[in-house]
Amino acid sequence: MTNILNQSVLNVKGIGQETSLALQEMGLTKIIDLLEHLPYRYEDYRLKDLADVKHEERVTVEGKVHSEPSLMYFGKKRSKLTTRILVERYLISAVFFNQPYVKSKLTLGADVTITGKWDQHRQTITVSEVKVGEVDRKQDLKPLYHTKGEVTTKALQRYIANAFYQYENDIIDNFPLSLRERYKLLSKRDTLRFLHFPKNFDDVKHARRRMVYEEFLLFQLKMQALRKYERENSAGHPHQYQEDRLQEFIDNLPFALTNAQQRVVEEIATDLKSPYRMNRLLQGDVGSGKTVVAAIALYSSYLSGYQGALMVPTEILAEQHSEGLRNLLEPFGVKVALLTSSVKGKQRRQILEDLSNGEIDLLIGTHALIQEEVNFHKLGLVITDEQHRFGVEQRRVLREKGESPDVLFMTATPIPRTLAITAFGEMDVSVINELPAGRKQIETYWVKHNMLDRVIGFIDKELRKGRQAYVICPLIEESEHLDVQNAIDVHGMLTHTFLEKYRVGLMHGKLPAEEKEQVMRLFSSNEAQVLVSTTVVEVGVNVPNATIMVIYDAERFGLSQLHQLRGRVGRGADQSYCILLADPKSETGKERMRIMTETNDGFVLSEKDLELRGPGDFFGRKQSGVPEFKVADMIHDYRALEVARQDAVQLIQSKVFWEGQDYKYLREMIETSGAMNGEKLD
Ligand code: ADP
Ligand code: MG
Repeated sequence: MTNILNQSVLNVKGIGQETSLALQEMGLTKIIDLLEHLPYRYEDYRLKDLADVKHEERVTVEGKVHSEPSLMYFGKKRSKLTTRILVERYLISAVFFNQPYVKSKLTLGADVTITGKWDQHRQTITVSEVKVGEVDRKQDLKPLYHTKGEVTTKALQRYIANAFYQYENDIIDNFPLSLRERYKLLSKRDTLRFLHFPKNFDDVKHARRRMVYEEFLLFQLKMQALRKYERENSAGHPHQYQEDRLQEFIDNLPFALTNAQQRVVEEIATDLKSPYRMNRLLQGDVGSGKTVVAAIALYSSYLSGYQGALMVPTEILAEQHSEGLRNLLEPFGVKVALLTSSVKGKQRRQILEDLSNGEIDLLIGTHALIQEEVNFHKLGLVITDEQHRFGVEQRRVLREKGESPDVLFMTATPIPRTLAITAFGEMDVSVINELPAGRKQIETYWVKHNMLDRVIGFIDKELRKGRQAYVICPLIEESEHLDVQNAIDVHGMLTHTFLEKYRVGLMHGKLPAEEKEQVMRLFSSNEAQVLVSTTVVEVGVNVPNATIMVIYDAERFGLSQLHQLRGRVGRGADQSYCILLADPKSETGKERMRIMTETNDGFVLSEKDLELRGPGDFFGRKQSGVPEFKVADMIHDYRALEVARQDAVQLIQSKVFWEGQDYKYLREMIETSGAMNGEKLD
């Protein structure tokens, strides 16, 4: 941008000292700030044919006053003015509430333009705005801007218009001409013109296209620059191993890999062998078989002479993995150790010592295992499991561990592609999109809370067959604000119901670690048949004999979380069930319940979840690494996002991008973002 646009808004006609201070409050200090303060919506004043207008829709029409208006008063202040207006071939009524002063203007035969709500049955418009006489129809779409403090929408519309017409010749377009031509994008000047003063919605669409592409491309370029930086500055270890020994391990697995598993193993192997450091996200639905993929990768690392680490979010999961992987890997000579906070004293010291000597090949544990006191001899590969909630920052810390290991993040939350390439844009992504053959679909039912007795009867029936049940509750404490069932109450109720017949365990986040493990152990070994729990069992837990998942207040959970919870059952040979107890009030709540009963496909659910909840909520909290765009919307503009990503990948690798004059602006934007120094972006 030229300097002149960086001057104060005081230069704009109609803006004085006082106004400029008010604008400053809104973050608008420079002329360019005003020009780039874009409308969030447009009020539509275009004329419409009444035949096309729906009942209760807001409409603007032009017509002639066709009858003497009649005015009625109710008390002192309230009034109703009624008249007939001929709009093309329709004779309609116009009603003005509390606008008695309009009466004198509505002379017979006068031209009027009225805006208001259309009542199709009564053929009446309840008028909110009226203009008498010729109307200037140049701007039928009125831009609405976010305002603050003293500044009114009307005033802001004027300031922006003044700024634009005063300075439009100074608006310079820095965006590469080659890209503008390739995608037939508007110039910056026209883009701003169309956004602030559109003649129709096509103008807006056109201008948005340019903005969306620019925003996405810049973002993706930064991501790719970061990726390039991390690749080039990571002295990765090229893993070298004998293929036939790896193949032998794979051939010895108790099952054949699915096609998807094979493909993903291939992708990981390519990364491991390359001199770059792997930075890969592995997505696979619950039960898709990620663990064995991890085992194969860890074994490759072992064969290359490196140690491996597997990091999981909970101790329960760590124990489970340690058992499973020991069974798979120890017969092939891999020494596996488990390190959690429960491992203490002499045993702990021994593990740490063996680890630094290289006598342990694979360390499994919670995130404690990459902390300072833990020293590996030669760490080549770190895998994290079920870490979809890992923030951007944590991902970086992990990658920056001194030893420069390859990193693989595994998650069972299928992340919609649009989100994956924005939130995880600097990573490579692999997907297992296929379940092992022969899995039974979990039957899902949505029932109202008043059906609880029948649900308990159903649980009882399954328990009698020797199966087990999970009962999940949203919160653990009574809250006055949230009308939620709490786990302790439910536990009390079920203990009472199943008294002497079955044992009911209670699990929640506030239990001490030892008690948690104790409870899980009882449930795993079928000494407890029912487990009442908060969402702590959401991740990874594997008890194949459990066939019922009951979720209280299911409307409080997002689709991804419900799907995770449901994934705790359906792990054995028996038919499993998921019962959603919910009385959702909102339409989206009902929609969520319906979708759950309709599909078991995690990717379908995640796309729906994204639509229903929006990107910010997707990972359950705001700090998710999903950037906010000014104009672009990753859900609706996903095609542009894909295009921008592909372009960014190519540009970053091309010489002309780093040297060509046309790309100067983009280069500068990337340089100032810090991405080229490995700084993570907001
Ligand atoms: P997740 O991806 O949810 O972590 P797991 O790795 O726990 O899934 O695998 C779920 C179950 O499927 C395990 O019991 C595992 O042994 C089994 N499994 C994995 N891959 C296959 C396969 N290719 N064929 C049959 N069973 C498989
Ligand atoms: Mg798993």
